[in-house]
Amino acid sequence: MSLTKAPQLKVLVNGAGIAGSTFAYWLTRTGLNASITVLERSPFPRPTGQSIEIRGPAISIVEKMGLLPSVLARNTTEEGTRLINAQSKIVAEFGKGGFTSEYEILRSDLCGLFLDASKGMKNVNYVYGDYVTAVQQTDQTVDVTFNSGARDSFDLIVGADGSASRTRTLILDEQTRKGSYNFIGQYIAYFSIPRIESDTKHWYWYNAPKGRGLMMRPHRNGKTIGCYVVVTTPAHDHYDALAEAALESGPEKQKELLRIYFCDAGWQAERILAGMDECDDFYMSRSAYVKLPTWTNNRAVLIGDAAHATFGVGTSLAVEGAYFLAGELGKIKHSNDIPAALKRYEATYRKVQGDGADLPPGFPQFAFPQTALAIKVRDALAWVFCKTKAHKLLPGDKPDDSKLPPYEWVAV
Ligand SMILES: Cc1cc2nc3c(=O)[nH]c(=O)nc-3n(C[C@H](O)[C@H](O)[C@H](O)COP(=O)(O)OP(=O)(O)OC[C@H]3O[C@@H](n4cnc5c(N)ncnc54)[C@H](O)[C@@H]3O)c2cc1C
Repeated sequence: MSLTKAPQLKVLVNGAGIAGSTFAYWLTRTGLNASITVLERSPFPRPTGQSIEIRGPAISIVEKMGLLPSVLARNTTEEGTRLINAQSKIVAEFGKGGFTSEYEILRSDLCGLFLDASKGMKNVNYVYGDYVTAVQQTDQTVDVTFNSGARDSFDLIVGADGSASRTRTLILDEQTRKGSYNFIGQYIAYFSIPRIESDTKHWYWYNAPKGRGLMMRPHRNGKTIGCYVVVTTPAHDHYDALAEAALESGPEKQKELLRIYFCDAGWQAERILAGMDECDDFYMSRSAYVKLPTWTNNRAVLIGDAAHATFGVGTSLAVEGAYFLAGELGKIKHSNDIPAALKRYEATYRKVQGDGADLPPGFPQFAFPQTALAIKVRDALAWVFCKTKAHKLLPGDKPDDSKLPPYEWVAV
C-alpha cells in the first residue's frame, strides 16, 4: 500500500542503534512511501558493544526479519554464569536458560545485522556526524534544526537516541520529563581483551567491596573475551564525583580512574586493566532507567532506551517497540493520521510490555555490594537461587509471537 495523499512522507529517526535501525527496517516493510533519514550523532557507525540478548517476542521479530540464522551463527557460545569469590572459587553456577539465553550475541554483531538489513532498503538513508538541536511542531510538520546549521521539515520525528536521549528533551515538556531519567548508581566500562588458554566459555562475575565488579564473557571468535568493569555507588541517584568528571573528560581519563579504583580489586583485575590499556573498543557509560508517563507528542515519538531504558532486557524492548511503532504507522492513510498512530503504538505496546521494563528489586546495589560481609550474604543467596533453579523463571528465551498484533508487511 502507498500513501495516496502524502506520497512524500518524510521521517527522521535520531539514533542508528538497535531501535533506530530496527524501526527503519520495519517502516520500509509497511509499504508506506516513506523516505527515512536515520541520523547518528557519532561521525561513524557504532556497531560495538559486548553481550546482549533477545528474548520472547523480540526473537520472533528477528525471525520475521529473516535474521535468526545469522543471530544464531553469531552466538557468543556462552555456556552459563559462574559467581567467583575472592579466593577464585565458584560460589554459584547457573547453566543456560537463565542469565545466559540461547540468543546471546555481541551488540556489535546484532547492531551490524540490523544496520546492514536496513541500509540497503529503498528510501533509507543513514547520515552520520550531526544531531538535532531544535524541534518545532505545527499541525502539519515537524520543523527541525540540526547542529550543522541545516534546517528541514518532516512528517514524523522518532527519538531512538538511547537512555540519555536528547530528542526526549526536545519533544516532551519539562513537566512530562520530570523524574524520568533515573541514575541507578552504577557506571560500567565495556571492552575486549585477548583470550588466554585457561578462559572457559562462562560468564565470570566477581565482586570486590565498594560496589566494584569485574566480569568476563566469552566471544565466539576464540581470540578475545568481553570485559565489564563496574563501579556501583551505595544507592540510586548517588553519583560518584570522580566517575562523573571522567565521563565528561573522555576514555583516557575513564581508564585512568578505573586503574586507580581497581588496582587492589583482586581476582583478574591486573590482567583486565592491562587489557583495557590496549583495547580499541572501550565504552563507558552511566546506567539509568527511564520511565515516562508518555512516549509521544503529536508527530514526535520515542522508542527503545530513549522511552524506557532498563537493565537486562533493554535490547528486546527496543526491538519490540520499533516493530509496534512501524506496525501502527503502517495503518495510516494520510500524514494527518500520524499523531493517532503514535498514540495507538503507545497504548498497544505499553500493554504488551507490562512491567517488563521494571528493574529487579534491590538492583544493582544488592548484586554489587559495598562490604565484604554483604558480598558473603549475596553469595549465600545466589547459592540458594542456583540450587532451587529459580533463575529458570527469568523471561523466556524462546520465540513468542503470541503478543504480536497481525500487522501487514510487504515482502522485501
Ligand atoms: C556504542 C554502544 C555500546 C553498547 N554496548 C552495550 C553492551 O555491551 N551491553 C549492553 O547491555 N548494552 C550496550 N549498549 C546499550 C544497548 O545497545 C541498549 O541499551 C539497547 O540495545 C537499546 O537500544 P537503543 O537503540 O534504544 O539504544 P542504543 O543502542 O544505545 O543506540 C542509541 C544510538 O543513538 C545515538 N545517539 C545518541 N545521541 C544522539 C543524538 N542526539 N542524535 C542522534 N543519535 C544519537 C548513539 O550514538 C547510538 O548509536 C551500548 C550502546 C552503545 C551506543
